[in-house]
Amino acid sequence: MTWFKKREEEEKEGKEKREELKFSEQLWTKCNSCNEIIYRKVIERNLQVCPKCNYHFQIPARKRIECVVDPGTLTEYDTDLVSADPLEFKDTKRYPHRVKESQEATGQKDAVICGEAKIKGQPVMLGIFEFNFMGGSLGSVVGEKITRLIERAIEKRVSVVIFCASGGARMQEGILSLMQMAKTSGALAKLHEAGIPYISVLTDPTTGGVSASIGMLGDIVIAEPKAMIGFAGPRVIKDTIRAELPEGFQRAEFLLEHGMVDLIVERKDLRHTLASLLEMLVPNDQEK
Ligand SMILES: [Zn+2]
Repeated sequence: MTWFKKREEEEKEGKEKREELKFSEQLWTKCNSCNEIIYRKVIERNLQVCPKCNYHFQIPARKRIECVVDPGTLTEYDTDLVSADPLEFKDTKRYPHRVKESQEATGQKDAVICGEAKIKGQPVMLGIFEFNFMGGSLGSVVGEKITRLIERAIEKRVSVVIFCASGGARMQEGILSLMQMAKTSGALAKLHEAGIPYISVLTDPTTGGVSASIGMLGDIVIAEPKAMIGFAGPRVIKDTIRAELPEGFQRAEFLLEHGMVDLIVERKDLRHTLASLLEMLVPNDQEK
């Protein structure tokens, strides 16, 4: 019966190897920009930025809060708002099913975290998109939470900062999602009339309806290095206009060169930059 025993051992060995491989994938990751294999912990310690080439990996909203906000100062608003399914939308999965999956994966009820916080002592109304929740799409909950955030900012006369990371509209909500562009833009117009500053921070990627509303409407528009920012994707544009697109098209640096972005700020400097800007741009005391 020796052969039988050997087979068992081989199986055990194979299983161990597979587990080892899985384990090493958890430990190491490949940089999307320079292809370097890097110890995952090193990237995490470096605010999700590649230490070799400075590529800014996407960062979960909760981690972003840790990087930017004074510890313990965030009071979250509207954490219980959840999407309805008025269109009873179904593609390969039902819409409520997709929402539930994202809720389980991220621990969030929807794709944005909103609240009141402090950045180096400066009070701020803060919104942060969670890209891992259905691509940070602008559904009715996201639109409502951001609108309420802006309304609270007007009421309390506090500046607004929103970190965008989004693929655009949430197609499962159809026109109700598109409506959110007008709704949030309208609220931002009122914020402007009230003389209260709004800073938008565009991170990789900020596209579609979010770039066409909240993203580009900042009094100051900041972007993270090499972030992809645009409305339609480059392939769609290329196929439509049938021309080669210039190098670096839709990247933060290209937009800065063409006047669409005011500043490119590295992740490690964002907290300091935002605090300085908030200190300089205090809300106008005289209501118009
Ligand atoms: Zn890299």
